[in-house]
Amino acid sequence: MRAEILDGRKVAAQVKAALKEEVTQLKGRGLTPGLAVILVGDDPASQVYVGNKEKACRAVGIASFPHRLPAATGEEHLLQLIGRLNADPAVHGILVQLPLPRQLDANRVIQAIDPAKDVDGFHPVNAGRLAAGLPAFVPCTPQGVMHLLAAYNIPVAGRHAVVVGRSNIVGKPLVQLLLAADATVTVCHSKTRDLAAFTRTADILVAAVGRPRLITRDMVKPGAVVVDVGINRLPEGLVGDVDFEAVREVARYITPVPGGVGPLTIAMLLKNTLAAALAGRGGGPRGE
Ligand code: NAD
Repeated sequence: MRAEILDGRKVAAQVKAALKEEVTQLKGRGLTPGLAVILVGDDPASQVYVGNKEKACRAVGIASFPHRLPAATGEEHLLQLIGRLNADPAVHGILVQLPLPRQLDANRVIQAIDPAKDVDGFHPVNAGRLAAGLPAFVPCTPQGVMHLLAAYNIPVAGRHAVVVGRSNIVGKPLVQLLLAADATVTVCHSKTRDLAAFTRTADILVAAVGRPRLITRDMVKPGAVVVDVGINRLPEGLVGDVDFEAVREVARYITPVPGGVGPLTIAMLLKNTLAAALAGRGGGPRGE
């Protein structure tokens, strides 16, 4: 069996086309959704991510407010900027690109963002709401994974999902979303013993680790759905956490890197920003 590719670019383009229509209508009613994007320092990968996010905003008509700060920025300065953006009615979403330079405490910075503008869904209020099954801003990458599965009508309820990685940004919120979708969920991490014994039992296997080709063919059950969140920069280019060519021979579905989960991440950011703008009009944050 050769796996079918889960085409993230195609699905993201569909999401963005629908969002563009909604944004156009909203603008006609006098409201332009706005996203403030803060980048501290000059990390090359972060610059690419931030540039892509701003470009995607423009493409659907969302206003983007870029804030580029020098690597030596002090915490007080950054917190003051976030305070001003919290109070700015033209700004509906605030995104602080991670990782931050060492002198800045990412937890304190994230907690300074108004949860109603936390379109990345990293604020503990949103993480807690998600865990409690309440409407919340859901982190974009795990939300994108769920959207991709839904776009291909891949059933989740009752299936065994194994998530490799337990970060606050990807693994943990994805566990919550899979549970909410009635999967039986196992979460593996750096201290898991005999990772393959777990991954081999997965109907849906998600790798969110950051180790090139960690998931090899012998670790995948024939017919499984394999979602590769990893982005690893190697001399030969970008690769995921999954040995794509070999795993493709046994899986039923697989995401490529690039062109899988990444484009959905950005599409979900735009979706969250639109939801934040609508919530400011008396709605509420819409979870997935
Ligand atoms: P992280 O470093 O915060 O977390 C990595 C996780 O992997 C940890 O929970 C750790 O316990 C686990 N881990 C490490 N080594 C392991 C091993 N040998 N076996 C099993 N588990 C192991 O990373 P993150 O922020 O969650 O990102 C993970 C990957 O996803 C990275 O490659 C990152 O670049 C990528 N990413 C992609 C997108 C996207 O849009 N596609 C978005 C966010 C992150």
